Amino acid sequence: MEACLEIRRGFDCDLMTSKTALVTGASRGIGRGIAIELARTGARVAINYAGNAEAAAEALSLVKAAGGDGFIVQGDVAVAADRERLVAETMEKFGRIDLLVNNAGVAPKVRADLLDCGEESFDRLFEINLKGPFFLTQLVAKQMLKQAPDAEGFRGRIVNITSISAYTASINRGDYCMVKAGLAMMTKLFADRLANDGINVYEIRPGVIATDMTGGVKEKYDKLIITDERGITPIRRWGKPEDIGRAVRAIAEDRFPFSTGACFDVDGGFHLHRL
Ligand code: NAP
Repeated sequence: MEACLEIRRGFDCDLMTSKTALVTGASRGIGRGIAIELARTGARVAINYAGNAEAAAEALSLVKAAGGDGFIVQGDVAVAADRERLVAETMEKFGRIDLLVNNAGVAPKVRADLLDCGEESFDRLFEINLKGPFFLTQLVAKQMLKQAPDAEGFRGRIVNITSISAYTASINRGDYCMVKAGLAMMTKLFADRLANDGINVYEIRPGVIATDMTGGVKEKYDKLIITDERGITPIRRWGKPEDIGRAVRAIAEDRFPFSTGACFDVDGGFHLHRL
């Protein structure tokens, strides 16, 4: 108890009542930023990754340094057995899942014109970015339904990380746009299904965020955001993983208890129609 009070004094949190979260793709980029922001509230985070164990270990150290705790769980969200293991291991360690963040996602390996893009890329994006999150959400929602409501009256919360590509046509990565649009609809479906069961579901729609995913197109976006006379975003900077992390944190802290199926644009104002 004394140790817990020490932690409270140091980090303004209470590990006895701290929330538990499963964040997919938390080893790097946006997912890591989310895990760290949740850790600042004292949360315990299941840090999922696909193949980069070193990055996952680094993410866990940062989570601990930020005042949280957690563990690492390898698993490919596109694989059914891995999804089941993710949930089972999280339950074994934490006993309940207060928050699921469907963040893991990939971009096409090659940006190909709509008339030339192939089935392999389409299937890969569909499996990782949409089918995986759908069936993981199904599993976690069933677990949340078994949980007693927490102090705020919620059995759980679910956040889907989509993209401005959910509504922006990019004809050199149509597959990515289509699956992100699907993920946006998935948010509405689960929000409707689970609203009466004490589970709120949200979509966070990031703009252009500086991560490994966008590393290869840095020059292009530097120009579009910063150098061009009128940038594509009113707020003329790249987004940071922390920007998305702070939005997820607000949801985890129940700042939006009367909202479900809501979409938050965290994009520097990209979504505005400007003249
Ligand atoms: P990133 O830097 O490439 O990181 C991707 C993360 O997802 C890594 O942790 C990776 O794990 C994990 N991952 C990849 N495939 C996986 C799988 N099959 N199963 C489990 N985990 C997997 O990407 P990011 O930029 O942070 O993007 C995160 C999410 O935000 C994605 O859904 C992306 O579509 C979305 N988004 C990104 C941007 C942007 O500008 N960056 C904008 C809008 C939306 P390993 O480390 O093990 O590879």
